[in-house]
Amino acid sequence: MPTKGTIGVTTNNIFPVIKKFLYSDHEIFLRELVSNAVDATQKLKTLSGAGEFKGSTDDLRVTIAVDKEAGTLTVSDSGIGMTAEEIDKYINQIAFSGAEEFLEKYKDNANAIIGHFGLGFYSAFMVAKKVEIRTLSWQEGAKAVQWTCDGSPEFEMQDCDKAERGTDIIVTIDDDEKEFLETARIEGLLKKYCRFLPVPIIFGKEQEWKDGKYQDTDKDKVINDIEPMWSRMPADLKDEDYLKFYHAIEPMQDDPLFWIHLNVDYPFTLTGILYFPKIKNNLDIRKDRIQLYCNQVYVTDSVEGVVPDWLMLLQGVIDSPDIPLNVSRSYLQSDRAVKKISTYITKKVAARLEEIAKNQPDEFEKKWNDIKIFIEYGMLSDEKFCESGLKFALLENTEGKYFKLEDYRKLISSEQTDKEGNLICLYATDKEAQYSYIKAATDKGYDVLMMNGELDVPFMSMLEQKQDKTRFVRVDSDVLENLIRKQEDSKPQFTPEQQEMAQTLFKSQIPPVEKAEFVIAFAAMSPDDQPMVITQAEYMRRMKDMARFQPGMSFYGDMPDMYSMVLNTKHPIIKKVIEQAEKSLEAELKPVTEEIAATQNVIKAIRDLDKDNKGVPDDKKQDLEDNEKRLKELREKKENMIVAYAAGESRVHQIIDIALLSNGMLKGEGLTRFLKRSIGLLK
Ligand code: ADP
Repeated sequence: MPTKGTIGVTTNNIFPVIKKFLYSDHEIFLRELVSNAVDATQKLKTLSGAGEFKGSTDDLRVTIAVDKEAGTLTVSDSGIGMTAEEIDKYINQIAFSGAEEFLEKYKDNANAIIGHFGLGFYSAFMVAKKVEIRTLSWQEGAKAVQWTCDGSPEFEMQDCDKAERGTDIIVTIDDDEKEFLETARIEGLLKKYCRFLPVPIIFGKEQEWKDGKYQDTDKDKVINDIEPMWSRMPADLKDEDYLKFYHAIEPMQDDPLFWIHLNVDYPFTLTGILYFPKIKNNLDIRKDRIQLYCNQVYVTDSVEGVVPDWLMLLQGVIDSPDIPLNVSRSYLQSDRAVKKISTYITKKVAARLEEIAKNQPDEFEKKWNDIKIFIEYGMLSDEKFCESGLKFALLENTEGKYFKLEDYRKLISSEQTDKEGNLICLYATDKEAQYSYIKAATDKGYDVLMMNGELDVPFMSMLEQKQDKTRFVRVDSDVLENLIRKQEDSKPQFTPEQQEMAQTLFKSQIPPVEKAEFVIAFAAMSPDDQPMVITQAEYMRRMKDMARFQPGMSFYGDMPDMYSMVLNTKHPIIKKVIEQAEKSLEAELKPVTEEIAATQNVIKAIRDLDKDNKGVPDDKKQDLEDNEKRLKELREKKENMIVAYAAGESRVHQIIDIALLSNGMLKGEGLTRFLKRSIGLLK
């Protein structure tokens, strides 16, 4: 006699609810059914281990089959099976309360709902119009049972003829869900969710090429690897194994740089393998590369909260039964077990890197440029990791030599400490473009670091904060004498008049350079240095660079670049140009200069009448205004004379152009003019 009954849920009709709310992730029904099937086989193994089940467990397996004609998908296992009482208890009585409220709350998170209710089996109704269970329990003398339900809360249960132990779940696929009858779709899902399950998952037959086409063989096609790498002992594995596994999960990638095998069973259970991928360009940086498993069942590739944020650049797998999977992200992040896991992973990664840096320094140096982005990112975002990182992070200089931070400080401390006791680390970002600056610095016995990585700018700022009295300055941010000041400024070489002359002479002749502004500055460098050097203040550049990383700072990024054109007042050519200009313009400028002086005197005399701040007497106001106007005119006149002279002074242009050229700023018309002029000079 078949039994009829109503499935024991408090909500009158659970199935429409399941269908309605679990729309997002229909495909996971397959994961749920296969997981149940795997559980059933594992339970039998446990019973066997305990001596309760006497038969063989060699044939444990799960088979998935699609029958397109009948419109069914069947998941069969050779596990423990169920008795009628067990079906009643585990399937018919779904006990929960407040279902609708909960479903409403988590309607977008099928995982959460399924986990919460233990609705694994019922998730089949997301895609089914009918579900049938045919099962035979392992227990001696058990009778095979058949259970059917068409999606209403009513079910039917009766005896049936099933000879082999285990369970078949036969899902008659709904008309809207026909995709789940497609072999390719199911195979894709099995590969996604079941790839590393611990019992063989069989789907169809292996094929072979025969008589001009692919044909099924007798051999079952096993979808999964029942003993994935991470579940094995690190001691049993060779580098090749790790590489092979990596390429299996990341088929499109180059060899990874390093890997870390996680293996812990106290205070939580966690296994896994994390790989440092070789990042070819920034487009490669994806954050969904770590897969999370729970006892070899694929759960998700969004590991936010479980893995520290900065380690999400890694790839690989993590398997832990201790991570509560079916809860919201915010809950996950506050969960204590999860926090511990995250801390553990950070510690392991740091320890592994430290070990490689220590035991294989050459290897570490060789791969430094590839892993540096991870390490810098980690040090910038994780205080604990930063502490370790300070021990193994490397700096590279322009000669391609690598140094540990501490070693580098020692190396440069005697030469590169300024008079205030600050350690000045010089750096370059472009070996070619900044060649002349680098050379000037190395000629002086300084060392120059190469800092052209994505995160080098914030990394240097971080080091400045961590390491007392350490400053990083780019070689071209000022002339060397100012970058590492060792003594009080030497006396200015030019008189104020000469400086004024030089200002106008050079400033007026700078050709327009896109997005750049220039000011003229003076420095007494060595006579052997360049006559003119272009520098960009470290502070300004750093602000602009940082603007790329920090949202609210974009206005810095939009500002034009400010450069200083520094005239070397000790350079013979600069001296000559100024002296000659003074001489050539002497006669012409004399009357103007004299009148300027006279006018300034008149203005001063009038202003002096206002010593007690009562204001200039009324009858003098007009006089003052006239004189100020005159002074302005005279200054303009003087300036125009110098500018007119400068325009015809090819050495001024030549000096400016050479400085621009050595910074890659001379282009187009300016460059052509420079070349022409240079050839002219050969005559
Ligand atoms: P959960 O797996 O979360 O307990 P399910 O609704 O998926 O919830 O399954 C309920 C119960 O039904 C399981 O705990 C198990 O006892 C039983 N069950 C489900 N599928 C099988 C199966 N293939 N073989 C044996 N028992 C099963």
